[in-house]
Amino acid sequence: MQTRRAFIKTLLGLGAIILPWSLLPAWVGEALKNGLGHPPVDLVMPPTTKLSNANKAESLSRSAMDDILTLSGSEMQGRKAGTVGEAKAAEYLASQLSMLGLKPMGDPKTGFAQGFTIPPVIEVRVNGRLTFRPGENRSLRTPSVNLLGGLMGENQQEVILLSAHFDHLGIFEGRIYPGANDNASGVGCVLDVMRRILREGKTPKRTIVLAFWSAEEMGFVGSEAFVRSSSFPLHQIQAVLNADTVGNGMIGDFALWADGVNVAVKAIRQAAAEAGASALLTPPAGHNSDSVSFAAANIPAVTFMARDWLYKNHTTDDTTALLKPEQINLATDILYRAVRLLAF
Ligand SMILES: [Zn+2]
Repeated sequence: MQTRRAFIKTLLGLGAIILPWSLLPAWVGEALKNGLGHPPVDLVMPPTTKLSNANKAESLSRSAMDDILTLSGSEMQGRKAGTVGEAKAAEYLASQLSMLGLKPMGDPKTGFAQGFTIPPVIEVRVNGRLTFRPGENRSLRTPSVNLLGGLMGENQQEVILLSAHFDHLGIFEGRIYPGANDNASGVGCVLDVMRRILREGKTPKRTIVLAFWSAEEMGFVGSEAFVRSSSFPLHQIQAVLNADTVGNGMIGDFALWADGVNVAVKAIRQAAAEAGASALLTPPAGHNSDSVSFAAANIPAVTFMARDWLYKNHTTDDTTALLKPEQINLATDILYRAVRLLAF
Protein backbone atom coordinates (compact mmCIF):
# COMPACT_ATOMS: atom_id res chain seq x y z
CA MET A 1 0.00 0.00 0.00
CA GLN A 2 2.82 2.32 0.89
CA THR A 3 4.48 1.85 -2.48
CA ARG A 4 1.20 2.45 -4.28
CA ARG A 5 0.57 5.62 -2.30
CA ALA A 6 4.12 6.77 -2.90
CA PHE A 7 3.68 6.14 -6.62
CA ILE A 8 0.47 8.19 -6.75
CA LYS A 9 2.16 10.95 -4.74
CA THR A 10 5.11 10.99 -7.11
CA LEU A 11 2.82 11.24 -10.11
CA LEU A 12 0.87 14.08 -8.57
CA GLY A 13 4.07 15.71 -7.35
CA LEU A 14 5.37 15.75 -10.90
CA GLY A 15 2.15 17.42 -11.90
CA ALA A 16 1.56 14.49 -14.20
CA ILE A 17 -2.02 14.14 -15.41
CA ILE A 18 -1.50 10.53 -16.23
CA LEU A 19 -3.84 7.84 -15.05
CA PRO A 20 -2.01 4.70 -14.01
CA TRP A 21 -4.57 2.19 -15.30
CA SER A 22 -3.19 -0.63 -13.24
CA LEU A 23 -4.08 1.13 -9.97
CA LEU A 24 -7.71 1.74 -10.84
CA PRO A 25 -10.70 -0.57 -10.75
CA ALA A 26 -10.91 -2.26 -14.16
CA TRP A 27 -14.21 -0.62 -15.12
CA VAL A 28 -12.93 2.91 -14.54
CA GLY A 29 -9.94 2.16 -16.73
CA GLU A 30 -12.20 0.79 -19.46
CA ALA A 31 -14.54 3.78 -19.36
CA LEU A 32 -11.60 6.13 -19.61
CA LYS A 33 -9.92 4.15 -22.36
CA ASN A 34 -13.13 4.31 -24.36
CA GLY A 35 -12.94 8.06 -24.02
CA LEU A 36 -9.49 7.93 -25.59
CA GLY A 37 -10.87 6.20 -28.64
CA HIS A 38 -9.55 2.75 -27.84
CA PRO A 39 -11.81 -0.06 -28.99
CA PRO A 40 -14.61 -0.37 -26.43
CA VAL A 41 -14.23 -3.29 -24.06
CA ASP A 42 -17.01 -4.90 -22.04
CA LEU A 43 -17.34 -3.26 -18.70
CA VAL A 44 -16.37 -5.21 -15.61
CA MET A 45 -18.62 -3.76 -12.93
CA PRO A 46 -17.38 -3.42 -9.35
CA PRO A 47 -18.81 -5.90 -6.82
CA THR A 48 -20.84 -3.11 -5.13
CA THR A 49 -23.11 -3.02 -8.16
CA LYS A 50 -24.64 -6.36 -7.25
CA LEU A 51 -28.15 -5.19 -6.57
CA SER A 52 -29.36 -6.27 -3.19
CA ASN A 53 -31.96 -4.73 -0.92
CA ALA A 54 -29.25 -4.29 1.72
CA ASN A 55 -27.19 -2.19 -0.71
CA LYS A 56 -30.18 -0.10 -1.64
CA ALA A 57 -31.17 0.41 1.99
CA GLU A 58 -27.61 1.41 2.84
CA SER A 59 -27.48 3.94 0.03
CA LEU A 60 -30.96 5.27 0.83
CA SER A 61 -29.92 5.89 4.42
CA ARG A 62 -27.04 8.16 3.37
CA SER A 63 -27.42 11.95 3.41
CA ALA A 64 -26.10 14.78 1.25
CA MET A 65 -23.60 15.53 4.02
CA ASP A 66 -22.29 11.92 3.89
CA ASP A 67 -21.59 12.36 0.17
CA ILE A 68 -19.99 15.76 0.73
CA LEU A 69 -17.70 14.42 3.47
CA THR A 70 -16.65 11.50 1.27
CA LEU A 71 -16.02 13.60 -1.83
CA SER A 72 -14.13 16.37 -0.05
CA GLY A 73 -12.05 13.94 2.02
CA SER A 74 -8.28 13.77 1.45
CA GLU A 75 -8.67 10.33 -0.20
CA MET A 76 -10.24 12.10 -3.19
CA GLN A 77 -7.26 14.47 -3.55
CA GLY A 78 -9.35 17.42 -4.72
CA ARG A 79 -10.91 15.49 -7.65
CA LYS A 80 -9.03 17.15 -10.49
CA ALA A 81 -10.22 15.78 -13.85
CA GLY A 82 -7.72 13.32 -15.28
CA THR A 83 -6.22 12.28 -11.93
CA VAL A 84 -6.53 9.34 -9.55
CA GLY A 85 -8.66 11.57 -7.28
CA GLU A 86 -11.23 11.99 -10.04
CA ALA A 87 -11.27 8.24 -10.66
CA LYS A 88 -11.88 7.56 -6.96
CA ALA A 89 -14.74 10.05 -6.89
CA ALA A 90 -16.17 8.51 -10.07
CA GLU A 91 -16.01 5.07 -8.50
CA TYR A 92 -17.87 6.31 -5.42
CA LEU A 93 -20.58 7.98 -7.50
CA ALA A 94 -21.05 4.99 -9.79
CA SER A 95 -21.46 2.76 -6.75
CA GLN A 96 -24.13 5.12 -5.35
CA LEU A 97 -26.02 5.22 -8.67
CA SER A 98 -25.81 1.46 -8.83
CA MET A 99 -26.88 0.81 -5.24
CA LEU A 100 -29.89 3.08 -5.75
CA GLY A 101 -30.90 0.80 -8.62
CA LEU A 102 -30.76 3.48 -11.31
CA LYS A 103 -30.43 2.56 -14.97
CA PRO A 104 -26.91 3.06 -16.39
CA MET A 105 -27.15 5.87 -18.95
CA GLY A 106 -23.54 6.45 -19.92
CA ASP A 107 -21.89 4.75 -22.87
CA PRO A 108 -23.61 1.44 -23.67
CA LYS A 109 -20.38 -0.46 -23.02
CA THR A 110 -19.44 1.30 -19.81
CA GLY A 111 -22.69 1.55 -17.90
CA PHE A 112 -22.92 4.70 -15.80
CA ALA A 113 -19.69 6.15 -17.22
CA GLN A 114 -19.31 8.32 -20.29
CA GLY A 115 -15.68 8.70 -21.32
CA PHE A 116 -14.25 11.79 -23.00
CA THR A 117 -10.90 13.55 -23.10
CA ILE A 118 -9.60 16.82 -21.69
CA PRO A 119 -6.96 19.19 -23.07
CA PRO A 120 -3.86 20.08 -21.04
CA VAL A 121 -4.28 22.88 -18.50
CA ILE A 122 -2.01 24.95 -16.27
CA GLU A 123 -2.82 26.31 -12.83
CA VAL A 124 -2.87 30.07 -12.31
CA ARG A 125 -3.87 32.18 -9.34
CA VAL A 126 -6.21 35.08 -10.03
CA ASN A 127 -7.00 37.36 -7.06
CA GLY A 128 -5.96 34.61 -4.65
CA ARG A 129 -8.15 32.01 -6.34
CA LEU A 130 -6.75 29.01 -8.18
CA THR A 131 -8.05 28.40 -11.67
CA PHE A 132 -7.10 26.54 -14.86
CA ARG A 133 -5.91 28.11 -18.09
CA PRO A 134 -5.33 26.27 -21.39
CA GLY A 135 -1.92 24.58 -21.49
CA GLU A 136 0.33 23.84 -24.45
CA ASN A 137 0.20 20.81 -26.76
CA ARG A 138 -3.58 20.95 -27.08
CA SER A 139 -3.60 17.64 -28.93
CA LEU A 140 -2.15 15.83 -25.90
CA ARG A 141 -5.44 14.84 -24.31
CA THR A 142 -6.13 12.98 -21.05
CA PRO A 143 -9.10 10.69 -20.32
CA SER A 144 -11.90 11.86 -18.04
CA VAL A 145 -15.38 10.62 -17.23
CA ASN A 146 -19.00 11.77 -16.64
CA LEU A 147 -21.52 9.56 -14.81
CA LEU A 148 -25.20 9.19 -15.65
CA GLY A 149 -28.00 7.11 -14.10
CA GLY A 150 -31.75 7.30 -14.66
CA LEU A 151 -35.05 6.59 -12.95
CA MET A 152 -37.39 5.57 -15.75
CA GLY A 153 -40.68 7.43 -15.92
CA GLU A 154 -43.99 6.42 -17.51
CA ASN A 155 -42.76 8.43 -20.47
CA GLN A 156 -39.22 7.42 -21.33
CA GLN A 157 -39.01 9.85 -24.24
CA GLU A 158 -39.10 12.90 -21.96
CA VAL A 159 -36.20 13.49 -19.61
CA ILE A 160 -35.56 15.90 -16.74
CA LEU A 161 -31.79 16.14 -16.22
CA LEU A 162 -30.64 16.84 -12.67
CA SER A 163 -26.91 17.52 -12.67
CA ALA A 164 -23.84 18.69 -10.75
CA HIS A 165 -20.13 18.67 -11.58
CA PHE A 166 -18.04 16.45 -9.29
CA ASP A 167 -14.54 17.55 -10.31
CA HIS A 168 -12.53 20.27 -8.59
CA LEU A 169 -8.97 21.66 -8.65
CA GLY A 170 -6.92 18.81 -7.19
CA ILE A 171 -3.59 19.42 -5.48
CA PHE A 172 -1.47 22.50 -6.14
CA GLU A 173 1.82 23.45 -4.47
CA GLY A 174 1.38 20.53 -2.09
CA ARG A 175 -2.05 21.57 -0.82
CA ILE A 176 -5.37 19.86 -1.47
CA TYR A 177 -8.28 21.94 -2.74
CA PRO A 178 -11.17 19.95 -1.19
CA GLY A 179 -14.01 21.69 -3.07
CA ALA A 180 -16.58 20.90 -0.37
CA ASN A 181 -18.88 23.67 -1.54
CA ASP A 182 -17.63 23.65 -5.19
CA ASN A 183 -19.09 21.21 -5.90
CA ALA A 184 -19.36 18.28 -3.51
CA SER A 185 -22.36 20.22 -2.12
CA GLY A 186 -24.24 20.13 -5.44
CA VAL A 187 -23.49 16.45 -5.94
CA GLY A 188 -24.72 15.58 -2.44
CA CYS A 189 -27.96 17.54 -2.92
CA VAL A 190 -28.66 15.96 -6.30
CA LEU A 191 -28.11 12.44 -4.93
CA ASP A 192 -30.35 13.25 -1.98
CA VAL A 193 -33.17 14.43 -4.24
CA MET A 194 -33.10 11.03 -5.93
CA ARG A 195 -33.01 9.21 -2.57
CA ARG A 196 -36.09 11.14 -1.45
CA ILE A 197 -37.94 10.27 -4.68
CA LEU A 198 -36.97 6.60 -4.36
CA ARG A 199 -38.06 6.43 -0.71
CA GLU A 200 -41.50 7.67 -1.78
CA GLY A 201 -41.61 4.88 -4.35
CA LYS A 202 -43.79 6.64 -6.94
CA THR A 203 -42.99 6.28 -10.64
CA PRO A 204 -42.48 9.72 -12.22
CA LYS A 205 -44.32 10.71 -15.40
CA ARG A 206 -41.08 11.77 -17.04
CA THR A 207 -37.72 10.03 -16.76
CA ILE A 208 -35.30 11.63 -14.27
CA VAL A 209 -31.61 11.37 -15.13
CA LEU A 210 -28.88 12.21 -12.62
CA ALA A 211 -25.70 13.44 -14.30
CA PHE A 212 -22.35 14.12 -12.67
CA TRP A 213 -20.04 16.09 -14.97
CA SER A 214 -16.29 16.17 -14.77
CA ALA A 215 -13.81 18.80 -16.04
CA GLU A 216 -16.23 21.67 -15.36
CA GLU A 217 -13.29 23.53 -13.85
CA MET A 218 -11.47 23.22 -17.18
CA GLY A 219 -14.27 24.98 -19.06
CA PHE A 220 -17.39 22.76 -18.93
CA VAL A 221 -15.54 20.07 -20.87
CA GLY A 222 -17.57 17.11 -19.53
CA SER A 223 -21.03 18.59 -20.11
CA GLU A 224 -19.92 19.84 -23.53
CA ALA A 225 -18.72 16.33 -24.41
CA PHE A 226 -22.13 14.98 -23.38
CA VAL A 227 -23.98 17.52 -25.53
CA ARG A 228 -21.69 16.71 -28.47
CA SER A 229 -22.13 12.97 -28.16
CA SER A 230 -25.01 12.21 -25.81
CA SER A 231 -25.87 8.66 -24.77
CA PHE A 232 -29.60 9.34 -25.45
CA PRO A 233 -31.23 11.81 -27.88
CA LEU A 234 -30.75 15.40 -26.70
CA HIS A 235 -34.21 16.41 -27.87
CA GLN A 236 -35.67 14.22 -25.11
CA ILE A 237 -34.32 16.61 -22.48
CA GLN A 238 -37.14 18.94 -21.37
CA ALA A 239 -35.14 20.82 -18.72
CA VAL A 240 -31.74 20.80 -17.02
CA LEU A 241 -31.44 21.66 -13.31
CA ASN A 242 -27.74 22.07 -12.50
CA ALA A 243 -26.62 22.53 -8.89
CA ASP A 244 -23.27 24.22 -8.25
CA THR A 245 -21.86 25.48 -4.93
CA VAL A 246 -25.11 25.55 -2.96
CA GLY A 247 -24.06 25.11 0.68
CA ASN A 248 -22.98 28.49 2.10
CA GLY A 249 -24.25 32.01 2.68
CA MET A 250 -27.43 33.30 4.24
CA ILE A 251 -30.01 30.57 4.76
CA GLY A 252 -32.51 30.60 1.89
CA ASP A 253 -30.52 33.08 -0.21
CA PHE A 254 -29.95 31.41 -3.60
CA ALA A 255 -29.22 32.62 -7.14
CA LEU A 256 -29.82 31.35 -10.67
CA TRP A 257 -27.80 31.57 -13.87
CA ALA A 258 -29.66 31.12 -17.15
CA ASP A 259 -29.99 32.72 -20.57
CA GLY A 260 -33.40 34.03 -19.58
CA VAL A 261 -36.61 32.82 -18.00
CA ASN A 262 -37.26 29.25 -19.17
CA VAL A 263 -39.14 26.24 -17.76
CA ALA A 264 -36.15 25.26 -15.62
CA VAL A 265 -35.89 28.76 -14.11
CA LYS A 266 -39.64 28.87 -13.50
CA ALA A 267 -39.61 25.50 -11.73
CA ILE A 268 -36.77 26.50 -9.37
CA ARG A 269 -38.34 29.90 -8.66
CA GLN A 270 -41.67 28.32 -7.79
CA ALA A 271 -39.96 25.62 -5.71
CA ALA A 272 -37.93 28.23 -3.82
CA ALA A 273 -41.06 30.27 -3.10
CA GLU A 274 -42.86 27.16 -1.80
CA ALA A 275 -39.87 26.41 0.45
CA GLY A 276 -39.83 29.99 1.78
CA ALA A 277 -36.52 30.83 0.07
CA SER A 278 -35.44 33.16 -2.73
CA ALA A 279 -33.69 32.26 -6.00
CA LEU A 280 -32.80 35.38 -7.96
CA LEU A 281 -31.91 35.26 -11.65
CA THR A 282 -28.53 37.05 -11.72
CA PRO A 283 -26.02 37.85 -14.48
CA PRO A 284 -23.10 35.39 -14.36
CA ALA A 285 -20.61 38.28 -14.71
CA GLY A 286 -17.77 36.33 -16.26
CA HIS A 287 -18.44 33.11 -14.33
CA ASN A 288 -20.64 30.20 -15.29
CA SER A 289 -21.36 26.50 -14.95
CA ASP A 290 -22.42 23.45 -16.96
CA SER A 291 -25.89 24.80 -17.80
CA VAL A 292 -24.21 26.85 -20.57
CA SER A 293 -23.40 23.67 -22.51
CA PHE A 294 -27.14 22.95 -22.71
CA ALA A 295 -28.22 26.54 -23.30
CA ALA A 296 -25.88 26.50 -26.32
CA ALA A 297 -27.92 23.58 -27.67
CA ASN A 298 -31.20 25.44 -27.03
CA ILE A 299 -32.18 23.19 -24.13
CA PRO A 300 -33.85 25.01 -21.21
CA ALA A 301 -31.23 24.94 -18.46
CA VAL A 302 -30.46 26.68 -15.20
CA THR A 303 -27.62 26.65 -12.67
CA PHE A 304 -28.78 26.91 -9.06
CA MET A 305 -26.32 28.10 -6.42
CA ALA A 306 -25.96 29.92 -3.11
CA ARG A 307 -25.98 33.66 -3.82
CA ASP A 308 -22.76 33.98 -1.80
CA TRP A 309 -21.11 31.14 -3.81
CA LEU A 310 -17.91 33.12 -4.49
CA TYR A 311 -16.95 33.27 -0.79
CA LYS A 312 -13.66 31.31 -0.40
CA ASN A 313 -14.36 29.72 -3.82
CA HIS A 314 -11.29 28.07 -5.40
CA THR A 315 -9.23 28.38 -2.21
CA THR A 316 -8.00 25.69 0.19
CA ASP A 317 -10.60 27.05 2.65
CA ASP A 318 -13.44 25.55 0.63
CA THR A 319 -13.88 22.82 3.25
CA THR A 320 -16.93 21.38 5.02
CA ALA A 321 -16.42 24.07 7.70
CA LEU A 322 -17.82 26.52 5.11
CA LEU A 323 -21.05 24.61 4.74
CA LYS A 324 -24.29 25.13 6.61
CA PRO A 325 -26.32 21.92 6.97
CA GLU A 326 -29.53 23.97 6.99
CA GLN A 327 -28.62 25.56 3.65
CA ILE A 328 -27.76 22.13 2.18
CA ASN A 329 -31.14 20.77 3.33
CA LEU A 330 -32.96 23.75 1.88
CA ALA A 331 -31.11 23.49 -1.45
CA THR A 332 -32.05 19.80 -1.60
CA ASP A 333 -35.68 20.61 -0.79
CA ILE A 334 -35.86 23.27 -3.52
CA LEU A 335 -34.35 20.93 -6.12
CA TYR A 336 -36.70 18.16 -5.00
CA ARG A 337 -39.75 20.42 -5.35
CA ALA A 338 -38.56 21.62 -8.77
CA VAL A 339 -38.12 18.02 -9.97
CA ARG A 340 -41.60 17.19 -8.69
CA LEU A 341 -43.03 20.12 -10.64
CA LEU A 342 -41.27 19.04 -13.83
CA ALA A 343 -41.36 15.25 -13.68
CA PHE A 344 -44.48 14.20 -11.73
ZN1 LIG B 1 -15.30 25.80 -9.46
